[in-house]
Amino acid sequence: MWCSLPLSQPGRQLCLYCQQALPVLPYALCHFNLLWLPAVARGLADAKFDQLLCLAHYQQPYQHWIPLWKYHTDLAAGQLLQQQLCLLLAAYKDGGHPMPGALTFVPLHWRKQRQRGFNQSQLLAEALGKQLQLPVLALFGKTASHSQRGLNRQQRRKNLRQSFSLTTLAQPLPAHIALVDDVITTGATANALARLLRRAGVKTISVWTLTVTAAPGYSL
Ligand SMILES: [Zn+2]
Repeated sequence: MWCSLPLSQPGRQLCLYCQQALPVLPYALCHFNLLWLPAVARGLADAKFDQLLCLAHYQQPYQHWIPLWKYHTDLAAGQLLQQQLCLLLAAYKDGGHPMPGALTFVPLHWRKQRQRGFNQSQLLAEALGKQLQLPVLALFGKTASHSQRGLNRQQRRKNLRQSFSLTTLAQPLPAHIALVDDVITTGATANALARLLRRAGVKTISVWTLTVTAAPGYSL
């Protein structure tokens, strides 16, 4: 998916050199929580979740692969991204860090999902669930999103919150849940969903995504 060298392992989309050349985030500096890294945290207004893990900042080559998967249905790009996120979380788990009781994912409006054919966040969550042997719960619904244009910050937040709902639950949720999304930009969507989880009694909320936008003032 990046260079044209032959692959050493079947099923992998990257050669060993490309794997080593991928940008990474300094997990050792932030103890596997990017909310403790200024280059990330300053760009996320008032995070309502407890932990953030991502592969990298929104930069090349992710900046190339993510739209390939989402908008051009390049399934090899999708497989590559799922593999990379699984590698990160496998390393996280092997390090003995606290694991959630279940995974959930950011919903897509049904019309968009029908158009695209898949929900990328759901596919990421399912790949992670398989890797980490955790249940994946479809917890959220998304109603048609109303335009955010012309609204102030507070109105935008309310508008966003009202466009998501928690599905009816047969049993109480685990105390720790990881919310999976493809990219995190301002954190507004993750915050809206974290509020719903919190209200349903979830104590610890992790957000796991492919990339995060660097905070303003941090050049890559
Ligand atoms: Zn390569």
